[in-house]
Amino acid sequence: MTDTRHLSGRKEELAANLAALEERISAACAAAGRKRDDVTLIVVTKTYPASDVRILSGLGVRHVAENRDQDAAPKAAACADLPLTWHFVGQLQTNKVRSVVSYADVVQSVDRAKLVTALSRDAVRAERELGCLIQVALDADEGEGAGRGERGGVGVGGVEELAARVAEAPGLRLDGLMTVAPLTGAFAGRQQAAFERLMDLSTVLRAAHPAANMVSAGMSSDLEQAVAAGATHVRVGTAVLGVRPRLG
Ligand SMILES: *Cc1c(COP(=O)(O)O)cnc(C)c1O
Repeated sequence: MTDTRHLSGRKEELAANLAALEERISAACAAAGRKRDDVTLIVVTKTYPASDVRILSGLGVRHVAENRDQDAAPKAAACADLPLTWHFVGQLQTNKVRSVVSYADVVQSVDRAKLVTALSRDAVRAERELGCLIQVALDADEGEGAGRGERGGVGVGGVEELAARVAEAPGLRLDGLMTVAPLTGAFAGRQQAAFERLMDLSTVLRAAHPAANMVSAGMSSDLEQAVAAGATHVRVGTAVLGVRPRLG
């Protein structure tokens, strides 16, 4: 017989963390006068094992995210029987695109034309429709056009053109925008202002692409500011799974 005691301990831990997180999200929605249903939780499972993903699924989590294909591909395969939506949120090299397209439902880190071309080619080949978010780098110099941020993302000036490319690309569906609060530049330490800037960009985007209404912003440390600004999706890792060993 397998010893499952450690797994039931982990289940209790994750359940308690999810309950505490749920309180934070509900309180943030209430404070912002928003309905709880307007914010979707995505649990970032990077660096944690497939067994944790399975427990989370059993606890009602429906969206998970990963940032490295090497870890995500085997994990997604091990969890293929679960009713999960997989988001890819990491910087993506074109040589990993074919693998990512085989399990990801949404790629949140679309930040350059070459990546759009590769995602479209492999989505068509796999006969899948892939959701795409444009990752916006709010630390890139706004005057720089399509300049890229330190943690990936296209500069504000490049969003519209890249969104149009995604919208036209076979196999891809333009779902909206994503950002990571910048550590440097004008928005450093000003998460809510950064997320409000993302919301303004979303308003502009939706004028041209009404269905592209996802706004993915906010992590363990700043989800309240993201909900206050109007985010539709928060991406939370540490607050659910614990502090990661320093690589994710
Ligand atoms: C790791 C990661 C998160 C989650 O961060 P936490 O601080 O652990 O909540 C969210 N978004 C992206 C893009 C990430 O890489």
